Amino acid sequence: MSVLQFLTTVHFGHGMRRELPKLLAGARVRRPLFVTDKGVIRAGVFQSATEALPDAAAHPVFDDTPVNPTEAAAAAGAQLYRERECDGVVGIGGGAALDLAKAVAVLATHPGPLWNYCNRHASPAPIDRAPPVVLVPTTAGTGSEVGRSAVIVFDNGIKAGVRCPDLVTAALCDPELTFGLPPSITASTGMDALSHCIETYCSPAVNPPADAISLDGMARIFASLERAVADGRDADARGDMMMGSLEGAISFQKGMGAVHALSHPLGALGFHHGTLNAILLPHVLACNREHLSAKWDAIRRQAGWPEGTDVAQAVAALNQRIGIPARLRDIGVQETDLAAVAAEALHDNAHKTNPRPMDQGDYEALLRAAF
Ligand SMILES: [Zn+2]
Repeated sequence: MSVLQFLTTVHFGHGMRRELPKLLAGARVRRPLFVTDKGVIRAGVFQSATEALPDAAAHPVFDDTPVNPTEAAAAAGAQLYRERECDGVVGIGGGAALDLAKAVAVLATHPGPLWNYCNRHASPAPIDRAPPVVLVPTTAGTGSEVGRSAVIVFDNGIKAGVRCPDLVTAALCDPELTFGLPPSITASTGMDALSHCIETYCSPAVNPPADAISLDGMARIFASLERAVADGRDADARGDMMMGSLEGAISFQKGMGAVHALSHPLGALGFHHGTLNAILLPHVLACNREHLSAKWDAIRRQAGWPEGTDVAQAVAALNQRIGIPARLRDIGVQETDLAAVAAEALHDNAHKTNPRPMDQGDYEALLRAAF
């Protein structure tokens, strides 16, 4: 069995955002840098997340998080951290803001460039003196709050991870912070979480505890995603989505597959991670089918679909019901980029654990099917 290590202390529950002052005091953080994005501030979610902190307005806020977090944004956030003499980082937002918060914490206290810490190197530069980091997710998608790395678009154009498993002091998960998420973002981030659970479960690495966690996450997301899209204030559905997202990210250290091997290079071109995964997932399921044996049927059972259901087609139908675009071309992917994306997928970590061994031609065929 491969390693499964639960690393992050998670505080989970409705209203949990009000514990933020206690968490910061426990970590001896007096001057936090907030890392978030402008949409989270505009929607009032940042204010809600920090409502229990009496002096929240006195602390610096870095809100220039790009759709896909970049090395340049991490350097800018780290500069603000040093200028304002901060002593901790609080990430509030979706996966992009949370991953950026991790990268800011690294660059605030370690010499650049960030690329030196990328997991593409055989031995990345050590990360051993980062400040306390508290992460507050406001979507139920990436599970970045418990993920072991920060996925960054580096200055060289590569989208890959900075492995920082010990970085996060605590995750604070309050489903109420997702009540105001618009249906389209609920749908795309929710499909990211579902793709984590499904890809993890399908990965051929032997890790029964990770499988059990991903199966539970799958069941919660299948049961609640459509409800959360239809009624954002459905507290039970929002709670299930946030737990499913957390479970996907706890378990995906087992390894993922072709969905993420392709969505990382596509994301480096600027497209939304969750939307890409949603579009790719049915095609990857169909491509992997012969290599999934009993897992195919287990996924069907978690979804509550009748015996004999084509899981790939049923996931495509789910996408359609929740308003996900059907094809890569619908979101602006260019046909001329597909060959390069297929070549880059071979270098992604998720490529190693797709159930069906893939070559560049297989990836290109997959992309064409999804195009
Ligand atoms: Zn993902």
